[in-house]
Amino acid sequence: MSVPPSDSRFPRTLIGFVQWFDADHIPEGREKLWAEPNRVDWVRCIPFIILHGGCLAVLWVGWSPVAVWTAIALYFIRMFAVTGMHHRYFSHKTYSTSRVGQFLLAVFAGTAVQRGSLWWAYHHRHHHQHSDDPEDAHSPHVHGFWWSHIGWITSRRNFPTDYAKIKDLAKFPELVLLNRFDLIVPILFATAIYSIGVVAEHLAPGLHTNGAQLLTWGFFISTTVLFHGTACINSFTHLWGKRRFQTTDDSRNSLILAFITLGEGWHNNHHRYQACTRQGFYWWEIDLTYYGLKALSWTGFIWDLKSVPQSILDEAARADHAATVAAAQRASHHHPDYSFGRLKKVMPAAAAIAVATATASQTTLPKKSDDPAIHRDMTEESHPLSRQTLPPPTA
Ligand SMILES: [Zn+2]
Ligand SMILES: [Zn+2]
Repeated sequence: MSVPPSDSRFPRTLIGFVQWFDADHIPEGREKLWAEPNRVDWVRCIPFIILHGGCLAVLWVGWSPVAVWTAIALYFIRMFAVTGMHHRYFSHKTYSTSRVGQFLLAVFAGTAVQRGSLWWAYHHRHHHQHSDDPEDAHSPHVHGFWWSHIGWITSRRNFPTDYAKIKDLAKFPELVLLNRFDLIVPILFATAIYSIGVVAEHLAPGLHTNGAQLLTWGFFISTTVLFHGTACINSFTHLWGKRRFQTTDDSRNSLILAFITLGEGWHNNHHRYQACTRQGFYWWEIDLTYYGLKALSWTGFIWDLKSVPQSILDEAARADHAATVAAAQRASHHHPDYSFGRLKKVMPAAAAIAVATATASQTTLPKKSDDPAIHRDMTEESHPLSRQTLPPPTA
């Protein structure tokens, strides 16, 4: 059944309500929404507002150690789902799995309550194509901090999934189904948490928890914090931290954000090379998602994790040396006593490297056109599942 387009308030409100349950119910057509300027769709955002408002229930349900630890555990487990599944599998295909495995990854990622994997991947690939350009849906440089952090997901034009741009994923009907009815997994997940709390109240009263309390901490609080932890990647990682690679955007590397997001803080590394599974390129760049995926690969559930090419590591080494030299030159300018001569006395090896790098030929920085962008070879060509021919989705 199709509802005719209407500008009157009630039908639009009704459509927004239906879209809570069927994200692909877009009677006016996706193109019409994409042509609109950004504006908040309040009806569509009500579940998101309820998610935040649900945290206030803590005033009535109180807390218990088991409830708080459940919230913390579910934050990190589901951050792993966001970074390891939504991002490193569906958005970039940095490793392989079976078709059943892929479906299970999408279900697991759905518990993060960040809509379907296909919506997530579509927007993320779009971000890489247009990073910090006016087209970028969530650039803090173009739209400001709060829009990049939370505002962009409230905009009507950002709700639809453009299946035509993610054909490698959209050809799997089961993934389209999960994406279209993206509230199913969160509802089942919240029901499971509540049920566990009810059972615990009766079978283990010593835990001092119950269904409402576990739901408040394990679902509402944990999911809300998880959303803002993930959103840091859109906002803070294009503002805070260091830039190793001179990419055409303003992506940055930050250890603090890497802890909050289980490795996604190495965002400048990732913008330079998106096709590898790990985002921390060195052992000291802590990347817990990569370690988790590595462990998962030992079970045979996933395989073919992509490594960082030597050419990218060489480029990183040149960039790090250039940064060392620039820092030394700045120090020498501001503090003449600490010149290269002084450095040579204290750290002869470091001085030799700095001088050698300073006199080396200029590093060639990547142009926008050289960027790996979406990595067509990862999805359309090289990925085993992507080569399968399936009928187009009927959604
Ligand atoms: Zn980015
Ligand atoms: Zn990415």
